[in-house]
Amino acid sequence: MRRSATSVAVFILLAVACVSCSREQSQSAAEAERPRPSILLVTLDTTRADCMGFESDAVETPALDALAARGMRFSQAWTTVPTTLPAHTSMLTGLYPSEHGIRENSRFVDDDRVLLAECLRDAGYSTAAFISGYPLKRRFGLAQGFDLYDDDMGRGNAERAAGPTTEGALSYLESTSRRPVFVWVHYYDPHDPYVPPEPFRSLYPSSPYLGEIAYMDQELGRLIEGFEGRISGGESRILVVGDHGEGLGDHGESLHGNLLYRGVMRVPLIIAGSGIPVAEVETAVSTRRVFDTILGWAGLDSEFDLLAAAEEIVMGEALKPYLQYGWQPQVMAVRGSIKVIQSGETEVYDLRSDPSESENLSDKIKVDPEIAEAIRGYALLPEIGEASSGDALDQEARRQLAVLGYVGWESPAPVREDAPNPRDMTHLFADLDEGSEFFVREEYEASIKVFERVLAEDPENLMVTVRLAVAYSILGNDERALQLFSRAEQIHPGSIDLQHYLAMHHFRFQRWDLAAPLFEKVLTVMPRKLPALEALARIRESEGRLDDAARLMERVIALKESPAAEWIRLGELEMAMTDTPAAIRAFEEARRLQGEAFDRYLELGVCYLAVHSFAAAAEALDLVPENHPGYAMALFKRAQVSVLLGEPEWRERVRYAYERADPQIRQLIEREPLFQDTAGR
Ligand SMILES: [Zn+2]
Repeated sequence: MRRSATSVAVFILLAVACVSCSREQSQSAAEAERPRPSILLVTLDTTRADCMGFESDAVETPALDALAARGMRFSQAWTTVPTTLPAHTSMLTGLYPSEHGIRENSRFVDDDRVLLAECLRDAGYSTAAFISGYPLKRRFGLAQGFDLYDDDMGRGNAERAAGPTTEGALSYLESTSRRPVFVWVHYYDPHDPYVPPEPFRSLYPSSPYLGEIAYMDQELGRLIEGFEGRISGGESRILVVGDHGEGLGDHGESLHGNLLYRGVMRVPLIIAGSGIPVAEVETAVSTRRVFDTILGWAGLDSEFDLLAAAEEIVMGEALKPYLQYGWQPQVMAVRGSIKVIQSGETEVYDLRSDPSESENLSDKIKVDPEIAEAIRGYALLPEIGEASSGDALDQEARRQLAVLGYVGWESPAPVREDAPNPRDMTHLFADLDEGSEFFVREEYEASIKVFERVLAEDPENLMVTVRLAVAYSILGNDERALQLFSRAEQIHPGSIDLQHYLAMHHFRFQRWDLAAPLFEKVLTVMPRKLPALEALARIRESEGRLDDAARLMERVIALKESPAAEWIRLGELEMAMTDTPAAIRAFEEARRLQGEAFDRYLELGVCYLAVHSFAAAAEALDLVPENHPGYAMALFKRAQVSVLLGEPEWRERVRYAYERADPQIRQLIEREPLFQDTAGR
């Protein structure tokens, strides 16, 4: 298929149309008669196609082998992008990353994007997902359409082992009697670090990666058995697919995300179940066809079915080195056995005679004009506005992603005229990943050591320049930081991210006059940029512009998942501006979020007293603990409230407060008109 701009537009129209037509389709008489199968979609993270038992003697995967033996196995299934979130977004939307706009992890899938689970839920399916890795957490947007989206990895964990994920899915299947069901299970075990549980650790002592795959296969076996057992009587279908592979050293890449070679781009893909014949399919297919295929299984309108896979040009991309380092963007196209990689230069491989892609045939084979056209038509640049979609990620989210080796950069670097080809830069991959990991873990000295080394080799690397500047800034080296910021400005003039980091630098050095206008500018372009909102709020507060500070805090609160500390700061600001009802609301919100950890009962009690809510004031002041630095003040206030409530023991309260008071508070008690006849006794 030619992927000209027109065909892309038509395709998008079709994709949108499928949802609006879904109900119509599912209610047509013919469809109503055909029982719709329950569907199990399993995505295997970081799983190479050649690390399956049916392709390799090095690993045993009895569950996958059995599934392949009774279903259709695709030996040329290609992912759209070797990164978890964008690859899954393709499977769940039927779109290439150039169309759905998610090029990297830690981006957010738009609410108005049409996702597979939404189509199936609208068609009457019960939908549930069980997620094992942080890049697919609910917040990133793939939960749309799922009645249940279980992404609970336990507090502070960035991944969940296949065992507990399988348990979750099986107990869901046990508990729900509604049919048909659509269940998506995501396994993350083969993602690095490779630490398989026993006995797999011992079974694969020299290849823990394969040990992870073998362990995952064991759990997949339990899952399939449970799924088919509990769907008994009805039709069921299963689709198992990898999201991308792992380099394992091929072409100089150990992990995934930087290059487009076969080890990371070709993935296992198996379909099996009711009505599915046994076959091995060699036609090249894209994992984005998971969407079309499952839509068809659910009786919905679909333009493509893997059961009858027609030959097409299959596309893929790896833009991380471009987006983060300013290297060449990379796009791939596969048709038949010919694979073309375009990345500043052209590489052509014949996968049949040279599966390891060791001989570039670009001198010998002329690229087919249709393939050349498809590559030209593949949109490289992110959509306008996409750069700002990562802005609400907080420190914790970044830390979690960093633990997994993912570090997002928020706006695309320009393509440099002399941009290097990523495949010539493999010697820097490890340092780039390591430096970024140190950086996001806030180990700045270690990060500087690694990044200075990279910068010496790749002096135009924008991400490295900026991260170095920020690291020096945080460590207090004003001069080196400013030097690097100005260097970065030369590489990417006008970058809004850059202005943000420079503003943060001035903020750290308390140069409010330089920081504030930069933050204002950043917030015009990226109104949800959390650190900018927080920093500007502090600046306004220190300038005495309390109302501006409070309004900024409200914007921060709207963006945070659990903004308890922010509600408290807002409460303090409102108190300072004597807007007592607003302060009470803020403290109560913090109390609701914090539960037992809430420690602003003194402020809350004083506020309630100020608005004559005496019972609420008493309740709050009674909760101020004895070791609180303001305990004496709390006793004094509580005694006032006692008088106002007409409590019989009010004299005792005044006496007790006086005993516990410092000289200052004793004075207050002595002068308090409410206590006139008892003061000092
Ligand atoms: Zn992945």
